[in-house]
Amino acid sequence: MIHIRSREEIEIMRKSALMVSATLTEVAKMLKPGITTLSLDQMAETFIRDNGGKPSFKGYNGFPYSLCISVNDVVVHGFPGAYELKDGDIVSVDCGFYKNGYHGDSAYTFAIGNVAPEVLQLLKVTKESLFRGIAQARDRNRVGDISFAIENFTARENPYGVVRDLVGHGVGKNLHEDPQVPNYGKRGDGKRLKEGMVLAIEPMINLGTKDVYTANDGWTVKTRDGKASAHFEHTTAVRNNRGEPLSSFDPIEAAEQANPELNTSYYTTVADVTMQ
Ligand code: MG
Ligand code: MG
Repeated sequence: MIHIRSREEIEIMRKSALMVSATLTEVAKMLKPGITTLSLDQMAETFIRDNGGKPSFKGYNGFPYSLCISVNDVVVHGFPGAYELKDGDIVSVDCGFYKNGYHGDSAYTFAIGNVAPEVLQLLKVTKESLFRGIAQARDRNRVGDISFAIENFTARENPYGVVRDLVGHGVGKNLHEDPQVPNYGKRGDGKRLKEGMVLAIEPMINLGTKDVYTANDGWTVKTRDGKASAHFEHTTAVRNNRGEPLSSFDPIEAAEQANPELNTSYYTTVADVTMQ
């Protein structure tokens, strides 16, 4: 069943989604070589609870942490731990915030220091593909229009692997609701979109092939070929005949650009990835 949310519900969801953005902004301020991923998780849980929320992920199907922290060849669902981030890593941070009965869900991939140019390009393409997908999240369109826009855009520039084993989803009173929102597909396929639906759109794009596997911990999803993977996600409302992100990258990007340990050179130096 796909839920239609009222204006009031969407405003509550916007607050949760923006608290995810605020949490990821705090992460952006802390990121540097030598910091453990567990310390990021501990900060995030404290920040979420201090703001009157609950971390959506902690305890979800037994997931033990507040953040999913996925470094380099980890696609999603990485466990925070003793690993110390180092120069040249990329780190995807996925967060959920629950308050007043509704979840927000958003993810962002950061580059630490001297990241390889092809990996910076992957970040740029993956982030842009998210916005291509959001642009299709309009009343009367179908889920496949979002899926096609993401897959088609990523395929235009490079032979990236679009992950198929994990997909976006509806979000609301539950973290994962109908419909599933794949990052691959055909125009005009799938469920019809309606004003008031709220979707977590989240391209997961690999530098190499699309093949992934789940590690022995039962959660950590990694690329089969060991190459890097990027992940960007927005909680997105279908309203006013467009896709409206309820989470925001603006404060995250401001913190990212103010942190000298983070590499944001791909904003300007990597070739533009515009549509024809
Ligand atoms: Mg997420
Ligand atoms: Mg999600």
